[in-house]
Amino acid sequence: MSATGTVYLVGAGPGAPDLLTLRAARLLERADIVFYDALVHPETLALAERAEKIAVGKRCGRHSTAQRFINKRLVDAARKHALVVRLKGGDPLLFGRAQEEIDELDAAGIRFEIVPGITAALAASAAVGRSMTRRGLSRNVAFVTPRTGAGEEGHDWAQTVLAADTCAIYMGVGEAAGIASTLLARGASPDRPVVIVENASLPDERRLPSRLADLALAAASGIAGPAIILIGEVYARISPVPAAAVAERTRAA
Ligand code: SAH
Repeated sequence: MSATGTVYLVGAGPGAPDLLTLRAARLLERADIVFYDALVHPETLALAERAEKIAVGKRCGRHSTAQRFINKRLVDAARKHALVVRLKGGDPLLFGRAQEEIDELDAAGIRFEIVPGITAALAASAAVGRSMTRRGLSRNVAFVTPRTGAGEEGHDWAQTVLAADTCAIYMGVGEAAGIASTLLARGASPDRPVVIVENASLPDERRLPSRLADLALAAASGIAGPAIILIGEVYARISPVPAAAVAERTRAA
């Protein structure tokens, strides 16, 4: 038997507990210890019946355990336990600082594996029923965040958004007004279709379709849950409620 355990960096998916992969579910069932993020659903966590569960959650602006401390705790846990799970929202390899954890595990000689999850952009596009790529209209998709970490150099996120056919902006709703004005100032069309999806895949999911010129307004409509901004022609003419829900209401009336 190896002297240290294995750390699994596991994607918990966008929110709905049944959007977890089977591999993730099986690992959670066998886990000795689970370090989880703030957006992980309680039912997902409950699968880890026998594990010690430790919140290291990050939600923008709220309390979070310092990343360096998390890295170190993963190494320590692998020295004590056979099966360590690091459970992250969505996919672990997108905007989750996974590389810092991977590098630390690597440096300590600890085995790790990555289990992909469904990222928020895909769940959000599914929520509005639109393909992110489309023949003749969209042949590329960009995953972007305008957010920069403390001490990190700024980057030209707007250039990426302007160049992409379809774009998903993570961690951007709080600064939607600035995002819209930057893009407009750089020549984006005010009519470019935009949709904000809040709580994608969850029962309180909301879609706020708009256009770039009105993005700030849409973002100001009391968004409390995690939300993502989708931009591109593929998001034209989305109704605020799904057509099936409208049909349902008409039938009921
Ligand atoms: N690794 C995660 C992203 C972490 S960054 C993933 O792959 O999805 C956190 C950001 O993801 C949030 O600020 C929000 O922009 C987005 N997000 C996460 N869950 C979401 C959800 N259920 N609905 C909409 N956006 C979500």
